[in-house]
Amino acid sequence: MTATRILVLNSGSSSVKYQLIDMADHSRLATGLAERIGEDTSTLTHRPPAGGEPRERRGRLADHDAALKAVAEELAADGLGLDSPELAAIGHRVVHGGLKFTEPTLIDEVVLKEVERLVPVAPLHNPANITGIRTAQRLRPDLPQIAVFDTAFHSTMPEHAARYAIDVKTADEHRVRRYGFHGTSHAYVSRKTAELLGKDPAETNVIVLHLGNGASASAVRGGRCVDTSMGLTPLEGLVMGTRSGDIDPAVVFHLGRVAGMSMDEVDELLNKRSGMAGLCGENDMREIRRRVEEGDAAATLAFEIYIHRLKKYIGAYYAVLGTVDAVVFTAGVGENAAPVREAAVEGLAELGLAVDGELNAAGGREPRLISPRDARVKVAVVPTDEELEIAEQTYALVTGG
Ligand code: ADP
Repeated sequence: MTATRILVLNSGSSSVKYQLIDMADHSRLATGLAERIGEDTSTLTHRPPAGGEPRERRGRLADHDAALKAVAEELAADGLGLDSPELAAIGHRVVHGGLKFTEPTLIDEVVLKEVERLVPVAPLHNPANITGIRTAQRLRPDLPQIAVFDTAFHSTMPEHAARYAIDVKTADEHRVRRYGFHGTSHAYVSRKTAELLGKDPAETNVIVLHLGNGASASAVRGGRCVDTSMGLTPLEGLVMGTRSGDIDPAVVFHLGRVAGMSMDEVDELLNKRSGMAGLCGENDMREIRRRVEEGDAAATLAFEIYIHRLKKYIGAYYAVLGTVDAVVFTAGVGENAAPVREAAVEGLAELGLAVDGELNAAGGREPRLISPRDARVKVAVVPTDEELEIAEQTYALVTGG
């Protein structure tokens, strides 16, 4: 029997998302989410193979070990246990790969030590990813475990895009540079966009706008990332659900000196109480649009700020690329919010950018063009699928493909 199944694990600080994917036909055999790990109100929602009813477990999952054991039990109940010979490998999302990890990597102790060394530059994410890996290793010590890094796709950025203009010695000593995130999504979506255009990715230039709760833009030339909006951490760039994106760094000193805020307080402000939530008290774009329609002033201004920043990045990446084949929207907001797409390219006809009202308003889960038929530069919606991309990269590594 050939092993064609990949379990994809995305371990957060208090959650574990998982998908079991059969690479023979890309079908999802099971998906699920364990949330609020470590609290009394933990839940595990498990979606069995097509046609089965979702199952929910409530009650304390003390730690990631307990959560993954519960996941393993749910999978086993569907005949998909981790001991199955059909399971080829486990693919782990790892947020920060630093400069070292630019490809999917077979995990061993040396790799884990290196991922641990990156904790200071990814304090929120890498520890949770490491915990997930160690737990999965305990459950299946014999199985290949592969790390797929969020930063990897951006490692092709040239130095002039990756470096901050600060003292080189200080920057190098503390590994301060622009790494970029959401790389798995940018890689998948830029490739799918070339497919949608019927072009070779190596000859296609795209601007990818990944707009979810976290949001980032990238400029992709011939399948390789040449710039992206997130930097040392996922705080830089676009306005996000709760993160500020670009800001004058002197705001931090100002708040320290004038408002007496500590470093941790400013960190919390910029990461958790900023962005759309900070501007209008709401980070869900659906609710923001509803309030805009009702004439709510705070929501309207927040929406305008969001679009203004987005437009600046489209313009900047247009200039970086020189010629652009497509601007593509993805993730929760990008895939679903037609008003965001319309507003983002409004007034950019001189750049060859426009959306067709009807095509933009039509929904769907398939990649699609929303620009007028004769448009010089295409505008597209391409649903992202980070789990499938992780599974594909994992499977390719273990099968030598
Ligand atoms: P993340 O993975 O970063 O948490 P997602 O890519 O799942 O985020 O995107 C989540 C966001 O997508 C939600 O916060 C919501 O604002 C937005 N969203 C989802 N559906 C819609 C919709 N129909 N219209 C507008 N925004 C939507």
